[in-house]
Amino acid sequence: MQLRKKLAAFVLGLALVGDGMSMAQVSAAEVYSKAMADKTPGFVKLGFSQFPAQGMTTTYDATSIITDSASAGTAIATGNKTASGVINMDPGKTIKFKTIAEYARDLGWRVGVVSNTSLDHATPAAFYAKVPSRGDMYDISTQLSASGFDYFGGGGLAQPKGKKGDQSDAIEMAKKAGYTVVSDVAAFRALKPVAGQKVLAMNETLQDSMAMPYDMDRTEDDLSLADYVEKGISLLDNPKGFFFAIESGKIDWACHANDAAASIKDTLAFDLAIAKAVAFQKKHPKDTLIVVTGDHETGGMSLGFAGTKYSTAFEKISLQKGSYVAFDREVMSAYKDGRTVDDASLDDLLPEIKRFFGLDYEKLSQTEQEMIQRAFLRSMKGEVERAAQESVALLYGSYEPFTITLTHIANQAAGIGWTTYSHTGVPVVTFALGRSEGLFNGYYDNTQIFYKLASAMGVKLPSLVKK
Ligand SMILES: [Zn+2]
Repeated sequence: MQLRKKLAAFVLGLALVGDGMSMAQVSAAEVYSKAMADKTPGFVKLGFSQFPAQGMTTTYDATSIITDSASAGTAIATGNKTASGVINMDPGKTIKFKTIAEYARDLGWRVGVVSNTSLDHATPAAFYAKVPSRGDMYDISTQLSASGFDYFGGGGLAQPKGKKGDQSDAIEMAKKAGYTVVSDVAAFRALKPVAGQKVLAMNETLQDSMAMPYDMDRTEDDLSLADYVEKGISLLDNPKGFFFAIESGKIDWACHANDAAASIKDTLAFDLAIAKAVAFQKKHPKDTLIVVTGDHETGGMSLGFAGTKYSTAFEKISLQKGSYVAFDREVMSAYKDGRTVDDASLDDLLPEIKRFFGLDYEKLSQTEQEMIQRAFLRSMKGEVERAAQESVALLYGSYEPFTITLTHIANQAAGIGWTTYSHTGVPVVTFALGRSEGLFNGYYDNTQIFYKLASAMGVKLPSLVKK
């Protein structure tokens, strides 16, 4: 402990990003918790929403009011605006930017990156990779092992052998670069801090696009985001300091699919993951800074829907048994397999609608029943004729029409509305706890998060980097 005192000038920085998480997503989780407690109106605050410093943060990028996770990650990690889709390079894709995690590494700190999406996805990549396009996932994964960072954890790699599967295996590259690679629960749990050890931990169960399962689909035996954060802190902690970037990425994916239940459950799981960081901060309050932000809002989520006017019933969200992905896999894919529209009947699926979403078809309004009938036919038909494409895109985005219609009806019954299957331009909230927390009060742009982190961490920025 004396060593830690001597090094009090050093700070341990933790940046946590809830992808697609703005105030609506946070509030939805808080109102849900209150509704589950006693059904009266109110909010049960999350742990991180009670952090002492809170700011509002704009998220636009160099080409759009509505950012994506690549340009938003670049802004947070490097302080630079860039074009949508670009990671840590300028909009012209020639200049490369140094990330806050790389600055931390060069200070001699240990560095960790955790995400429940695949580890080559845009937000985790924004802390270690520089690529013209977020779609260059193979290049991103080769830069992972070249980063020299000490701990990667969460999802797998989406393209470890490239788009065509014909490149050198990025996981083998990581092993050659000295990483201990683990991909099962037992090996993960057995990881102990070892001097100089570098770890790449990929979750045993991967659900969609090499991501960890939605928290509501996770089995008891499987690891949670909180497990990856707790383990990361134990592996990274050292007297010099560490920087740890953690993403809860599937809040965004759930909101793209307008699945409030999956978003709320992942937001609550994110809060439990943050609680692991808070427990560490409590032990080292003067040295540790925790910053929680969203990279943008997703879905245009709101607390309120035209059909339910001034009332909400968030407890109804608890009736949904799994995420839209689980319903697609367990129910829809199985039903569609080998069936055509001619031998399909909505009646076959009514018990599943009741079981999975708690929706009693007979008790729904005529409008809702017609929405379900239309979506069922659309799902069973497959190909969309050109004339119908526009209305299909507005009604269902790129999702399974039947599934997304059921989530819409379930969400609307709770009083939750959506405007889009993409991101929106509304600002996010940034929360901070610990050393230099006051820097994060106010209303500022997402690029400022980089400068605030750098200032709190004592990073000396080259004069070329403009503020
Ligand atoms: Zn997104």
